[in-house]
Parts: sequence; structure tokens; C-alpha cells
Amino acid sequence: MTGTTDGPAPTVTPGAGTTPPPGGRPPSFHTMWADLAPIGRHAASGGYRRHAWTGADADCRTWFQEQAEARGLTYETDHNGNQWAWLGDPLGEDAVVTGSHLDSVPDGGAFDGPLGVVSSFAALDELRRRGAQFRRPVAITNFGDEEGARFGLACVGSRLTAGRLTKEAAYALRDADGITLPQAMEAAGYDPEAIGPDPGRLARIGAFVELHVEQGRALDLTGDAVGIASAIWPHGRWRYDFHGEANHAGTTRLADRRDPMLTYAETVLAARREAELAGAVATFGKIAVEPNGVNAIPSLVRGWLDSRAADQATLDTVVSGIEAAAHEAAARQGVDLTVVRESFTPVVEFEHALRDELAKILGGRVPVLGTGAGHDAGILSESVPTAMLFVRNPTGISHSPAEHAAEDDCVAGVLALADVLEGLACR
Ligand SMILES: [Zn+2]
Repeated sequence: MTGTTDGPAPTVTPGAGTTPPPGGRPPSFHTMWADLAPIGRHAASGGYRRHAWTGADADCRTWFQEQAEARGLTYETDHNGNQWAWLGDPLGEDAVVTGSHLDSVPDGGAFDGPLGVVSSFAALDELRRRGAQFRRPVAITNFGDEEGARFGLACVGSRLTAGRLTKEAAYALRDADGITLPQAMEAAGYDPEAIGPDPGRLARIGAFVELHVEQGRALDLTGDAVGIASAIWPHGRWRYDFHGEANHAGTTRLADRRDPMLTYAETVLAARREAELAGAVATFGKIAVEPNGVNAIPSLVRGWLDSRAADQATLDTVVSGIEAAAHEAAARQGVDLTVVRESFTPVVEFEHALRDELAKILGGRVPVLGTGAGHDAGILSESVPTAMLFVRNPTGISHSPAEHAAEDDCVAGVLALADVLEGLACR
């Protein structure tokens, strides 16, 4: 059996489809969580290092396949290395797909990604317990290389599938050791020749719902365990090059200096001020200094601005405000400034009809909120009706070992996802 009509055939392990396998219950949420917990966890930091196409990633993939097989689901990997577990016909029309990713940022937390995948299997188990009758194919997916921790580009698996990353551009991706993406895929046992758009697969998906731990405190502030995503904020990255004059830190009079660090410092404060005024976020989180000597006035300070806001107009206001302040300070301090936009992702509005349907299924009792973080769901939303559920994160901390969701909230997430899948696939 092939799982796609586009490109080379993926690997498919036929399963029973709609009937659970003999031999007892599938692993519980607890068991699944405990099985995943040690994979890729760094002993010293306590954080996860599940980077694409590494040994830890392979172990996560094995875990996914085992979960599919334990439930009698039809397992396949597509030709972009994304994993799928199907209840019903993988070639059927109007499928309802849920899932997330299992990879992590460097020293990431346990919940970002895995919560969505584990909750998907648990929600399917819940529906079988309820005796739900499925009228549409249902799939659980694990998208490859969502975080981009190794090759510097996020959502590689979903981008390739959606045709938003060309094979040529994917082949040019390299990790810190100079290993290319195709080399890494090949070493992990995948065929990099086969990567590319998969429009036939996307055309068979009627709805994609991704459950994700919230990466902020909105739900903590509203007092809700679960929320529905409205949109992913527009997001950009800008490189600021402040050119001054290198000189001796001990002998150069303050009045004679052209110190780009000073201009950079004023720009950081301006970013904070502009973001606060607009209710947006703006961050200088990465910097490079030349010559980078403790007793030298720098010749160059290069800083990267990351800014996000609820809508395009607000983001434009913030970014132009920061740039104007930087140019004003640069002129005053005799520093030359160039600003280059390195990347930009426009706002992603999740489909209103599906979002409203989720709200109806969940009884209208869940808050609808925007997010500043990117997701596979955002990539797929151009091709497929897409929605997201968020589970409360009491501290809002994410991309850190401190990332957390309470057990009761995880259960609430599973039940909400089960309700959504039942509402979409069983009625
Ligand atoms: Zn994630």
C-alpha cells in the first residue's frame, strides 16, 4: 500500500485500521509520558536535546511507531520524514489530522511538541472508550524538525510538505558541524532524494488540529486549562550593524569616541519602550562585537532584533520606531548604522469556521487567544483548514527545562482534543 500519489512511495506498515489490536489496553498517558521522558534528556542541564536526525530523534520516532502499532493504526513515514498513524484509510478523503512534533530546541522542555503527540494518542484512546463511530479517517502526525535547532530553519518537515521550502534550499541547510540536511537524513536511514511538496496528501486532509502547551501566561491569567488559538502573530528578525571606530579603552577621551556599543545600548532601550507602548514584544537576544576585546572600544556591534505583535500595523509601528531611535542615536554619536530585515512571517489567521466549530464543540467555554510562537499548524494553514488548542502553562516559561503543565490541565487537554476529534470525525 502506498500512502501518497505524489513522489516516491513512503514506508507503510499496514495496520488493522479501525479496530484496536488484540492484547489489552494501549499505553496510558502516564506510560507514554514516562517512556518518552528519558529520551534525549541532558543529565547536567535537565533539558532536552532532541535535534532533527540525531539518535535522540530516532528514539522518539521509534516510540511513535510503537504507539501506532500498539493501537493497530496504519503507520507510515512520508517522503519528507514526517510520521503518520492512521485510523481508517490513509488514502481516504476529508481526513481529520492531529499531532505536533517530538523534536526540541537545545535544552528545551518536555512539553513543547510531545504534549500534542501524546495527547493525540490519548484522545484517540478516549474516543475508542466512548465507542465513537468514525465517519472520516483520523491521523496522528509527528512533523520532523519543527524547532530548527540543528539546521537553523523551523518547521522543515511541514514546510517541505506544504511546498514552502524548495528541495534546493533544503539541500543548502547545514548544521554547526557542516553536515548538510540530506547527509543527516541519509545517515538516519531516510532518502533525501525524495523530499518535496506533497499536495496530494494535503488535499486529503479536511482539518488539522494541533494541541500545544501554551508558551505564555494568557491562560494562567484567565484561569482556564485550555484555550483555542485565534492567530499566530506576525514576526520578523532584523540585523542592526552599528559601525564605529576601534580605539584604546584607556587613552581615548570620551568626547573623541565613536562607540557603537553606546548606540546599541540606546537601541535596546528604545526597543523595550516601543514594545511597551504598543503592547508588542521586541528583543535583542543575540549580539556580535568586533574586535570583542575587554580594553578596546568596538569597531562594530551587530545586534539581532526579534519583534512580534498582534497585527501588522502594530508591528510596523514598533519596528519603525526602534529604527528611527537607532538612527537618531547613531547620528548623535558618529556611528554608521545599517538595518537589514533577515526574515519575516506574516500573520497567520486560523480559519474562522473551524475555530468557531471548535468553540461550539467545547461549549463556548474556552478563551480564544493569539500567540507569538510559530508552529507547524501555521505552516499548514495556507493549504488546510487548521486550528490549535493550547494547554495552560502556569509560568509561561517555554524552550527551557522549567516548561510545565499541571497533570489536571494535561487531562483537560486530552478530553478537549477528544471532544474536538469526535465532533469533527464522528458526527
Ligand atoms: Zn512546539
